[in-house]
Amino acid sequence: MGVLYSSTRDSSKKVTASQAILKGLSDDGGLFVPDHIPALECSMRDLAGKSYQEVAYEVMKLFLTDFTQDELSGCISRAYDSKFDTEVIAPLVEAEDTYYLELFHGSTIAFKDMALSILPHLMITSAKKNHVENEIVILTATSGDTGKAALAGFAGVEGTRIIVFYPKNGVSPIQEKQMVTQKGDNTCVVGIHGNFDDAQTGVKTLFNDKELAAQMAACGLQFSSANSINIGRLVPQVVYYVYSYAKLLAEGRIEDGEEINVVVPTGNFGNILAAFYAKNMGVPIHKLICASNENKVLYDFFSTGRYDRNREFVLTSSPSMDILISSNLERLIYRIAGDDAKKNAELMAALSQTGCYEITEQMRKQLADFYGNYADEEETAKRIKSMYTNTGYVLDTHTAVASAVYQKYVAETGDRTKTVIASTASPFKFTRNVMNAIDEKYDSMSDFELVDELSRIGGVDVPNAIEEIRTAPVVHDNVCAKTEMKEAVMQFLGIA
Ligand SMILES: *Cc1c(COP(=O)(O)O)cnc(C)c1O
Repeated sequence: MGVLYSSTRDSSKKVTASQAILKGLSDDGGLFVPDHIPALECSMRDLAGKSYQEVAYEVMKLFLTDFTQDELSGCISRAYDSKFDTEVIAPLVEAEDTYYLELFHGSTIAFKDMALSILPHLMITSAKKNHVENEIVILTATSGDTGKAALAGFAGVEGTRIIVFYPKNGVSPIQEKQMVTQKGDNTCVVGIHGNFDDAQTGVKTLFNDKELAAQMAACGLQFSSANSINIGRLVPQVVYYVYSYAKLLAEGRIEDGEEINVVVPTGNFGNILAAFYAKNMGVPIHKLICASNENKVLYDFFSTGRYDRNREFVLTSSPSMDILISSNLERLIYRIAGDDAKKNAELMAALSQTGCYEITEQMRKQLADFYGNYADEEETAKRIKSMYTNTGYVLDTHTAVASAVYQKYVAETGDRTKTVIASTASPFKFTRNVMNAIDEKYDSMSDFELVDELSRIGGVDVPNAIEEIRTAPVVHDNVCAKTEMKEAVMQFLGIA
């Protein structure tokens, strides 16, 4: 039976994959979830011989059930092409007996490219299939990496416009430069005085604004989302977990059927949820290790069963994980509530009213696949330095959080299962923090001097994404209060 999608807050209505991609978020504020997780049809042995694009097809066809073979393979071949600087798309690098799954070889050098290089194609195809005549307006909140990856994906795509909100003082200098230099008449970038959660909440409010939707419809416009709440983001992320297992098998590093652990540096819970889906499709995964930075709301959740966002928001050196409301966790909550939309809706109502909720003992039991922990700023910096000193491999700050948490996991459990760590960003994106972790003497250098120095000591070429912004002019200089996001949107769309 083919997969359909329903909302985490109301399972009575079902929609097709293309409808879920177009809408982004369900009208009741819930997230679209597949009505079941399909099992892989190919054996791991068969997948082991396939390219990234072929594995992508085998995985995605099971979720995007209303796409024809031509439609889906067209989207895949347009997405995973020479925009990536390696043919294998997601290489596995061995360091200290673990495997780093490098997800940062796309055009903006963070893992968001894995999904956002295909989402525009899935979106345009979905619009055609559903006879949508409106122009699609992508509205996105970013903690730094989604914004640029979405801009790069949608810039110049006919029939779309894109608006990105980012926390003005909450992203790295390179991340900000990448966004504000984005070309393309259909793009708009706005910094807000607030943090990522403010940006995300503001965007969710705009999505649910019926009056705005009506005004937009009158002008032939409709919203959709490129955030990781969109099922069109989540599904492409399942692919690389399947692919990495198949590659380990192909290279003889594991036996067929041998379990592996997966460690994911987590913010909005999208990437690790994709790993959970991969496990449920049949990939032999033992533990899903959820790594947080000092914003350790998920660690507390896994250790107590209580989700509580009422705490200080900490700006860290891993800004893409500076999040207190992990949106995609709702999909897991729905699942461990036994696909009970009513129960989930109650918990989410408590979250928005009081900032916290507590799951039942019964639900907690179903979290046994997960292990949560966190690394503070000092531990993260130390991990970058020790990895560099031991092996010469340079980790970015987010991957370093994951690596430090993995060390804690091994020390605590003694579990020596072979492990894949999701490496979510290139160190070139967070150069200052990475270089300061390696040696304090770098503190006085400029951002681009640091880039060249990193290239030298790490023995890797400066990625194109960085070369491009060295001299690029700033074309977006909009800043607004977190209460003015609606005005900013209306102004860009010309409906003010
Ligand atoms: C977005 C991001 C994360 C967090 O991923 P989620 O899917 O939001 O949990 C981690 N690291 C980097 C570099 C990112 O860009």
